[in-house]
Amino acid sequence: MTTSSLPSLREAEDLDRSDELALFRERFLPIEDADVVAYLDGNSLGRPLRRTLELLRDLVTEQWATRLIRGWQDGWLEQPERLGDALGAVALGAAKGQVVLADSTTVCLYKALSAAAALRPDRTELVTDTDNFPTDRYVVEAMAQDLGLTVRWIASDPVAGVTAEQVAAEVGTETAVVTLSHVAYRSAFIADMARINSLVHEAGGLTVWDLCHSAGSIPVRLDADGTDFAVGCTYKFLNAGPGAPAFLFARTEHHERLRQPIPGWMSAGDRFAMAPAFTPAPGIRRMLSGTPAITGLAGVAAGVELLEEAGIERVRAKSLALTRMAITLCDAWLVPLGFGVSSPREDERRAGHVTLSHPRAEELAELLISKGVIIDFRAPDGIRLGLSPLSTSFSELWSALDRTRTLTREALS
Ligand SMILES: *Cc1c(COP(=O)(O)O)cnc(C)c1O
Repeated sequence: MTTSSLPSLREAEDLDRSDELALFRERFLPIEDADVVAYLDGNSLGRPLRRTLELLRDLVTEQWATRLIRGWQDGWLEQPERLGDALGAVALGAAKGQVVLADSTTVCLYKALSAAAALRPDRTELVTDTDNFPTDRYVVEAMAQDLGLTVRWIASDPVAGVTAEQVAAEVGTETAVVTLSHVAYRSAFIADMARINSLVHEAGGLTVWDLCHSAGSIPVRLDADGTDFAVGCTYKFLNAGPGAPAFLFARTEHHERLRQPIPGWMSAGDRFAMAPAFTPAPGIRRMLSGTPAITGLAGVAAGVELLEEAGIERVRAKSLALTRMAITLCDAWLVPLGFGVSSPREDERRAGHVTLSHPRAEELAELLISKGVIIDFRAPDGIRLGLSPLSTSFSELWSALDRTRTLTREALS
């Protein structure tokens, strides 16, 4: 590629002017820090929405302060399922009655894995990959220990991700559950959910997908792809706020036999019967445990509402335009400075962030953050550029990479 075909700042600004989603940037609270040049970490923590502030104010003053305990009967109790249905429709390709908001991703993963393993009681193996997100690996190992199962580890490539062929080689008559991240947290590689589901099902096993880097970034088709269980967080591309509740999907056909490890009063059929024996709620609600975090759900409501209005297909289209531009500029400006591109180059396999590698990544990441380019470092040598289509502009990305090139040059000289 010749330098003349690289986008200039003016061209990046033109892209912003013709961007159908540009106005959505106004829905976010401004960044109250004049030193920030670009926020490229919305894949770790999305920016706050103005609407969240409104919903929280209303929750505290109009509902909590006014209705007090009666708030539960006024709609709080139904929120985990109501928002689950909305999220399922807007972001997950899941029909009603299969998604609830609850706990954290880590806890939901434990519950989903345990429920899936309980549906395959005579099988002895859990399958996951060596480069899966730490929480996923730790939960799988703990569960295997608790249940006396064996973990089969797929040796995944940090850039190329887990392929269907690798899964095919590991599954068999002993496979109870295969759990993978749909989008790899390191490289943004998108796994082939439909093919992997059918491979696992052919072997008689079940799947549990982690959608943390998919939800709100790329279209997900849980029903169409035959997924059994899925979990994910709402504070990344869904902008629900730090520590906002996670979501858990369980396919309807499993509900009747679904047994989860932390049954609480919120998962009971009649919550207020206070019955001596536990009888699970008939549907997805049986995956809840304790009292839902209503304050955190205000952010989820705002995030889901915004995505519904923007549409996941338009979000994906802009996401691809942003990641393509990032790769083009990195190839021209940063590869000559020792960076490598550690994300897939094919659009179909790349989700919403671009990861760069550099032998001095940790030190460079610290420098960039101190100079207002907010990215994140992922050990051992990765710098992730998270591109959130509803809040990131093309000129913001351009300026961030321009500054990265200048700062890196200075640091290395
Ligand atoms: C961010 C992330 C998590 C986070 O889990 P929490 O329980 O919310 O801390 C889990 N899995 C993946 C793949 C992630 O990217």
